[in-house]
This record gives sequence, structure tokens and C-alpha cells, in this order.
Amino acid sequence: MQPRYQLFINNEWVDPSRGQWFESLDPFTGEAWAEIPRGTREDVDRAAQAAAAAMKGPWSKMSATNRGMLLYKLAGLIEENIDLLTEVEARDNGKLRSEVRGQVGYVAKYFYYYAGMADKIQGAVVPMDKPKVFNYTRLEPVGVVGTITPWNSSLLLTAWKVAPALCAGNAIVAKPSEHTSASLLELARLFVKAGFPPGVFNVVTGFGRDVGEPLVEHPLVPMIAFTGGDEGGRRVNLAAAAHFKKVTLELGGKSPNIVFDDADLTNAANGVITGIFSAGGQTCMAGSRLLLQESIHDEFVDRLVAITSKAKLGDPARSDVQMGPVATRPQFEKVVDYIRIAREDGATCAFGGKTRSGADYGAGQFVEPTIFTNVTNDMRIAQEEVFGPVLSVLKFKDEDDALRIANDIRFGLAAGVWTKSLHRAMYMSERLQAGTVWINNYRSTSFTTPFGGYKDSGLGREGGTEAVKEFMETKSVWVSTDLEMPDPFVRKY
Ligand code: NAD
Repeated sequence: MQPRYQLFINNEWVDPSRGQWFESLDPFTGEAWAEIPRGTREDVDRAAQAAAAAMKGPWSKMSATNRGMLLYKLAGLIEENIDLLTEVEARDNGKLRSEVRGQVGYVAKYFYYYAGMADKIQGAVVPMDKPKVFNYTRLEPVGVVGTITPWNSSLLLTAWKVAPALCAGNAIVAKPSEHTSASLLELARLFVKAGFPPGVFNVVTGFGRDVGEPLVEHPLVPMIAFTGGDEGGRRVNLAAAAHFKKVTLELGGKSPNIVFDDADLTNAANGVITGIFSAGGQTCMAGSRLLLQESIHDEFVDRLVAITSKAKLGDPARSDVQMGPVATRPQFEKVVDYIRIAREDGATCAFGGKTRSGADYGAGQFVEPTIFTNVTNDMRIAQEEVFGPVLSVLKFKDEDDALRIANDIRFGLAAGVWTKSLHRAMYMSERLQAGTVWINNYRSTSFTTPFGGYKDSGLGREGGTEAVKEFMETKSVWVSTDLEMPDPFVRKY
């Protein structure tokens, strides 16, 4: 019997207003395993009303210290429920259990981090250029924040938004991806257990049209924090602009991983493989463009092929498997199509390039880890986000040539540089147009530091102290200490 979930609004479990559900599929078996409520505009309205009421109720009057303690309690509950949350999320996105477990552990850490920050948010006393007046700034919560997230890391990417937003005192209406909704509904149970007042955290599941759009348009929701593709991001940004809403956008990437001839090539090869094939390439920060200095090109490609050929594909629940299926059927078809396009455009498939089916591969939604050489930067495989296990290898001559290729793209999420030269590393990191630059490592993330994109990779930053400010308004307060207001109609020259 499949579990049938309900919407979570105002700390209550409720049926969707039109009484419709849709199935959530396990990407490995291809079978439905849960029923997810198909939310509507009316459900978004219910949740937004509840969240807006929370912004006037006990939540808004709670001291920042007590707010932090609730977040701390929630973090502990996430740790206690790590098995359940891992199972549910992995069931939906088909990622390796070990990887999802690591992410859920990290979700707890996000809440711990922002729990500690809640009562340390400070405005400033501003030095004045005028006498007899005192000015200070107050940081105030924006209000109700709508979060919209994709399918690859549902809990983690929601935590990136919800933890700092709640730390700042906001209330949330969360809309997870229609492909991976269950884990967020399970998380909602923990909000009740932790003791959050009604309306502070609400989850409305469903499709972009039915739930995402009404959330962006809703008059009680002054801010949207979105992670997803750049097409969806553009639509959200345009719709939000019509209502002058705040937005943060964490969008796609086509990040360059740049290996110089003086690098530790063993480390670099491991880092490049981790950068592209972790989560089957289904991460925004995937290092999907490998830029190799000409002199090491052939040797380095051989190393990559040798490492990649050891990867075992199969059931992501098994501990001896290194790569699971592609998360959704449309995404599988998209990846397969990009492999065809790369071949047609003249790239050489140095490894992989095929799909896998048969007894070990469940419903057959598998694409081999794939390496294309002879890629030029004008090819679609070098410019467009595949969001799958496909690496494009390009050659460069020197630092400036590498920078020219790396920056000649509309994305700017992240970049990697592999070199033993400090000078080279600094030269590159200053000039790369990317929100994150990793030197001699790749794919490191932490709640302590900001993450976000340049160019078409997004707006705003998540993580660190900067994230909290995204969810706050700054108010400037002027207090007269002895300032006389002159007669407005008597001009003094
Ligand atoms: P997507 O853009 O299709 O969907 C993301 C979310 O937006 C979903 O919940 C969807 O229902 C909703 N949505 C779609 N259209 C909408 C609309 N018009 N209004 C409001 N909401 C709408 O993305 P996806 O396919 O789920 O995820 C993959 C994409 O996410 C990739 O491009 C990837 O790079 C990006 N991503 C970015 C980051 C980052 O931090 N930069 C992290 C992970 C994934």
C-alpha cells in the first residue's frame, strides 16, 4: 500500500482543495511508491494566509534567542530521523544512499549553524554627518518567504533557504519539486515536534504551474527563494518583478575545472571525476567542462578513463554501487539527446556514451559516465547544462587562454583550478567569473560560506552570514537628540 501524503498548512495535515493526488516514482524501479497531493492556487492561498498570520502571532513576538532554540531543537530531530529522511529522499531522487545520508546530516548542520546566529543579527549605529541626531539601522524579517526547489537535493536546497530565513524571523511556504516532495513533508512533521507555532513552516506540493506560479504572484508573499533551471528562474524573476518582490535565484551551471601541467595530477584526476560524476552529474555545481593544458591532455584523459572504468552502476541502495540512475525519465532522455548532439557536432566519445538496461539496472534509466574529447567551446556540449554524467574536455595553452575559454559562457556558478603555483591560483581566482572558485579541490561546500552565481547562474547568495541578510529588510531610523524642525515656509539663505 502506497503512503498517501497530505499538505502541511498551519501545523495541520490537510487534503488538497481539489482532492487530487499524483504518484511519486522511484527512479531505479520506475514504480510509483507514494501519492503526493496536487496543490492548487487555493492551497497556496491557505498557506500564505497561515504564514502571514504567523508573522503577526507568537512567532513574531518570540525573542531571537528562543527562535534559535527552536531551530536547534529541529536540527537535533533531523539527526534523530536521519534514516527515515534519507530513505524517503533517496527513494525519490535515486541518488546513492550514502550521498543522501551525508546530505541529510548536513541539513541538520545548517539548522544548528543558523540556530546559533538568530540572536546575533545586529544593525548598526551609523556615524552621522549632522549634529543633534542619532541614526541606527534595524534588520527586520521580510515576511513570508516562498521557497521553490528542484529534485536533485530537495532537503538540502530547501534547508539552504529555510534555515537562514527562519533565523531572520520569517515564515515559509515551501514548494518542493513535483518529483521529490515526500522528504519535505516528512521534515514538516519535525517542525511540529520541535514546537514551532502554526503557520511558520508550510508545505504545498504540486506542479510549477499550479503551485509555483501562484506562490510567486501571491500578494502576501514578498520574497521568493528559488533554485532550479535558468528557464524556470527567468519566469520566476519576471513574474516577481511585476510585484517588486525580492528574489534569490540559484540556477544552472556549466562550470570549468581547469588543470595546469604543474598540478598534482593524481589529486586533480580524482577531483575532476568527483566534480562531474558525483550524483551522476545531477548537481548545479558539476564540473562539466574540463579545461586541460595541452601538454598533459592525452596523459590526463587516460587517467580519467582508467578511474571512470572502475565505476559500478546499479541499485543506489547497494553499498558497492557508485552511480545510480538518472532521476527522472525526461531528464534521462535529455542526457541521451545531449550525447547524440555531442557526437553530431564532432566531439569524440573517449568513454561511456551508452545507456544501460537489464537485470542490474531496474527500469533502465541509466547513462554511463561519459567523457567527450575534441570539444570546442562553441559546441552545445560545451555551452549548455546537461545535468547528467557527461564531461566535455577542452584544451588550452596558458592562463589567459584558459580564462578566455572558461569565461566565454553565459553561466558563472563555480570553477576549479588545479596548480601548485600560488601565483597562478591567485591570478585565475581573481579573473574567473564564478561565485565559487575551488583551488586544488572541487565541490566543497559549507553552511559557513556563501554560495551563488554570476551571470545566468543566479542572483543573491545562500550560506554564511550573507544568506540571512537576503531574508531581511534594513530600516534606517533617525532620532532627534535636539534637532529643531525649522518653520517649513521660512527660507534661510
Ligand atoms: P526546474 O526549474 O524545472 O524546477 C525547479 C522548481 O521550480 C520545481 O519545484 C518546479 O516545479 C518549479 N517551477 C517550474 N516552473 C515554475 C514557474 N513558472 N513558476 C514557479 N515555479 C516553477 O528545475 P529542475 O529540473 O527541478 O532542477 C534542475 C535545475 O536546477 C538545473 O538547472 C540545476 O542546475 C538547478 N540547480 C541549481 C542549484 C544551485 O544552487 N545553483 C542547485 C541545484 C539545482
